[in-house]
Amino acid sequence: MSSTGSGPGLRVAVVGAGIGGLATAAALKKWGVRCDVYEQAEHLREVGAGLQLAPNASAVLYRLGLAEPLRRVAVRPAAVEMRRWDTGTLLGRTELGAACEERYAAPYLTVHRADLHRILATACPEGSLHLAMRCAEVVEHDEEVRLHFADGSERRADVVIGADGIHSTVRAGLATDSPRYSGTMVYRGLAPADRLPRHRDDPRVRLWLGPGQHCVIYPVSEGDKVNVVATVPGRERTQESWTARGDVADVRAAYAGWHAEVREVLLALDEVSLWVLHDRDPLPSWTLGRRTVLGDAAHPMLPFLAQGANQAIEDAAALAACLGPVTCPDDVPAALTKYEAVRRDRTDTVHAGARRNNGMLHLPDGPEQRRRDAELATATDLSNQDWLYGHDAFTV
Ligand SMILES: Cc1cc2nc3c(=O)[nH]c(=O)nc-3n(C[C@H](O)[C@H](O)[C@H](O)COP(=O)(O)OP(=O)(O)OC[C@H]3O[C@@H](n4cnc5c(N)ncnc54)[C@H](O)[C@@H]3O)c2cc1C
Repeated sequence: MSSTGSGPGLRVAVVGAGIGGLATAAALKKWGVRCDVYEQAEHLREVGAGLQLAPNASAVLYRLGLAEPLRRVAVRPAAVEMRRWDTGTLLGRTELGAACEERYAAPYLTVHRADLHRILATACPEGSLHLAMRCAEVVEHDEEVRLHFADGSERRADVVIGADGIHSTVRAGLATDSPRYSGTMVYRGLAPADRLPRHRDDPRVRLWLGPGQHCVIYPVSEGDKVNVVATVPGRERTQESWTARGDVADVRAAYAGWHAEVREVLLALDEVSLWVLHDRDPLPSWTLGRRTVLGDAAHPMLPFLAQGANQAIEDAAALAACLGPVTCPDDVPAALTKYEAVRRDRTDTVHAGARRNNGMLHLPDGPEQRRRDAELATATDLSNQDWLYGHDAFTV
């Protein structure tokens, strides 16, 4: 049996080395707090897909000193545009690019998830990542918390942070709820940009909205790849998975009647993965004694605001700011309570917005869709996003 951490200071254990867990380790390091991150996978890896990184999260990463490596791999789209599924009529365009940096002092970026994951891993303290360590149970004792792993080993810590995703083991100690089926699935794929030069040479986040489904397209990997997320109505409720393969013929068939630009992008894909989308209802409480959760373990949300990972990064910044000044294990529960208090309303609002968009982005043609389109045409000023992009997660 051994303890998490070495030397003086709190013994901090993070379960899960996804974007949220790694961002937490990197943010704690900024406060001079060393933690141990336990990851079930045998190798550090991320899904082969893209991610939109909004200024509310890129600002955190910049303050962690990651601006330079991010700039090297990310794409800075000029705008986000929404178009009608059949005619291609522009419904709304919001400037990003320089406008975003001027307004929020941080950029809107699109990245390959594996690039972001690698950058975060290099920002973690040396020796803090422990692979092939699947946490099976977390048990709180009077003075400490014990983590039991699937290989029979045990670690002791003063505080345990569950960053272990939608099927979180740490969350299981806080609630008995189940993931909630959204009625939608997504196909995700990456196309070589030389097949779609328009997307590389004129980078934008392009959304196409139609009845029952929508498609999001943007470049990643320094512009070498084009990321596609094509939503379709769900067929089955199967547990959402990180690895299910989809069939490119199915997604092309689902978008058969759509604008030629969308069909061209789907034709450029060699393979796609398929995700049945779930979220969960907000937890009554994220924190119990010396345990808490963050990212998808705390508030798994639908991807329809492109904010799940962004919120995990915000959580990491806020948690580090609450835990950073703590030196005595007895003060841990109060610090975790403060973390939850500063994050809850924020993540509840974003979570609800993502659920609302599940309907809003998929309206059938008719009066409601026309009302939505009229709103999209008038709400194009970046200031409409201040509530989301202008948030400073370090200020607790
Ligand atoms: C189609 C789609 C598009 C998306 N697009 C965006 C976007 O553009 N922008 C955005 O911000 N978000 C987006 N998201 C959401 C985003 O992917 C998630 O919110 C984010 O990955 C959550 O990160 P996390 O670290 O909290 O959890 P995860 O990424 O799920 O990481 C959890 C980690 O914990 C490990 N783990 C799990 N259980 C255990 C255990 N018992 N012991 C040890 N380790 C364990 C896992 O192996 C994994 O490494 C999208 C999601 C989808 C499905």
